[in-house]
Parts: sequence; structure tokens; C-alpha cells
Amino acid sequence: GIMLDNLTSRLSRIVKTMRGEARLTEANTQEMLREVRMALLEADVALPVVRDFVARVKEAALGQEVVGSLNPGQALVGVVHKELTALMGGDLGAAAGELSLAAQPPAVILMAGLQGAGKTTTVGKLAKWLSEGNHVQYGRKTGRKKVLVVSADVYRPAAIDQLKTVAAQVGVDFLLTEPTQKPQDIARDALDHARRHHYDVLIVDTAGRLGIDQAMMDEICDLHALLSPIETLFVVDAMQGQDAVNVARAFSDALPLTGVVMTKLDGDARGGAALSVRQVTGKPLKFVGVSEKLDGLEPFHPERMAQRILG
Ligand code: GDP
Repeated sequence: GIMLDNLTSRLSRIVKTMRGEARLTEANTQEMLREVRMALLEADVALPVVRDFVARVKEAALGQEVVGSLNPGQALVGVVHKELTALMGGDLGAAAGELSLAAQPPAVILMAGLQGAGKTTTVGKLAKWLSEGNHVQYGRKTGRKKVLVVSADVYRPAAIDQLKTVAAQVGVDFLLTEPTQKPQDIARDALDHARRHHYDVLIVDTAGRLGIDQAMMDEICDLHALLSPIETLFVVDAMQGQDAVNVARAFSDALPLTGVVMTKLDGDARGGAALSVRQVTGKPLKFVGVSEKLDGLEPFHPERMAQRILG
């Protein structure tokens, strides 16, 4: 079976044999770095991302003095934690959960992701978040937003109904579309409607397929070109684990993403997908989904995610 021991306890077993070392060296970190690697793989971080990350940790660790009462294992855990937090955007600090809405209204948010990732649910959560005035930009609440949501998913009639229900639950306006319309026409109509009725924000839900396919990518690229969204959010299910990497790469190659929303963190996923997706897209994780309910949205905290990944 897989051992889900946390990294600290893994390392403490090793360091019992190496007390009194004053520095982290090639020799004394080798075995520990192997444990770091194992811990990350068990947390579902994709292999190439693990390799890259371990190399970073090694570089940051070598030559570091082991200060005070720390032992080399604790010193290394400190380095891992710091690197992990930094890589996931710890340096962005206060920007956790911030969207760019400073555009000429309506600020358009385009949602992208596979079917089942949690796009429609996240549209509802974001709409609630924004309409209730929870949104923060540059460290300040930006006030209640007038939000319109629309579905460009014409392939599953149930998708439009689902968004309608969600919009009603959170009390925001929903623009009714028909499965017979072209997604591109829906985008144009929605933008026009949002402009004429002075919405602050237009959130556009899109079709997801079960896998990556070119027609789907072409379609969402069209929508992007038509809508000029200020935010293009990639929605990804934390439970996807290692598979999240390929999906993230495909969306990131096709679209100029501005951020990531990771859903289903209330499940038992270790969160390794967050590191992989951050690495592959180079874009910040902005929010996490922590419940099926429509208030289950939280700003992303790099620090907490690092803790979760390290176990
Ligand atoms: P879409 O196909 O990408 O639009 O995905 P949906 O929004 O329909 O979500 C798919 C399923 O995941 C639904 O059953 C949602 O209730 C569920 N879901 C979405 N986000 C979360 C979350 O953060 N936590 C949990 N537990 N379930 C979620």
C-alpha cells in the first residue's frame, strides 16, 4: 500500500542518523531529496513537474546553513515548503482570489475546462461572490457587481437549464439561450445585452467535452476572440491528479488563460494537481472550490496548498 506519511516524519527517520551536520550538502540531502520526490508523487504531482521541483529544491538547499535547533531534515522541509509556496504564487500574496475587473464594463469572464470539471457550478459561485460584493482588488472590496450569466453550451440541453437553476439560486440574471443557436452568436448576443443593460460582469459558461478535441478548442478560441474576456479561467478538478497536466497544457496552449480555479478540494485529493497546473500554465490559481454548494468558493492560498501537498 501507499504510505501517506507526511514529509516531516519521513525525513525525521532519515535525519536521526545525521545529527550535527552544519550545512545541507549534496551528500546529506541525497536521501532526503528522494523522500521529497516520493512524497510529491504520492500527492499526485506529475512526474516531470516533480523532477523540476526537486531540482529547484536542491539548488536552493545546497550550502544552506542548518541554523539554531533545526536538524538538516527540518531545514530541508523549510526549503521545500518555501519553494512550494513560492512556485504556487506565494509571492503574489494579497492577490489570492483577485480578478481583473477594471475593464470598461462589462468585464467578461470566460470559463474553460473539461465536462464535469465544475464550470457551471463555478459560474454560480463566482456570480454569487461578485454580486454579494465579496470581491477584493488591490486589497479592497470592490462592491456589489451587477452580474449576467450565459451558457454557450449548446450540445447538452441540460447544461443551459443547469445554469438557469444555478443563476436563480444565487439571484443573478441569466440570459436564456437555445440549443439551436451557434455558440458564437450566443457570445455576440450576450455581450450586446450586457452592454445595453449596463452589467458590470458577464460570465460565459462554455461546453466541455470528456476529452480534449480540436473542434472544442477551435470553438472556445472563437468565443475568446469575440468576447475579449478580461479573465479566461481554466477550471480543473483536483481529483484529476496527474491527468490534470495534459488537460492544462492543451487549454493553456490554445487560450491565453489568466488564471485557474481548482474545484473539489473538499474531496480527498492531496492537491498535487495544483502544483502541476501552476507549473504547466504559468498562471495563478485564483480560487478553489470546496463544496458542491454555491457558497463553496474560496480565494486560493498558496501556503495552505503547500501544506496539503506535503501532508
Ligand atoms: P461542468 O460540466 O464543468 O459544468 O461541471 P459542473 O459544474 O456540472 O460540476 C460537475 C459536478 O461536480 C457536479 O456534481 C457539481 O456539483 C460538482 N462540483 C463542482 N464543484 C465542486 C466542488 O468544489 N466540490 C464538490 N464536492 N463538488 C463540486
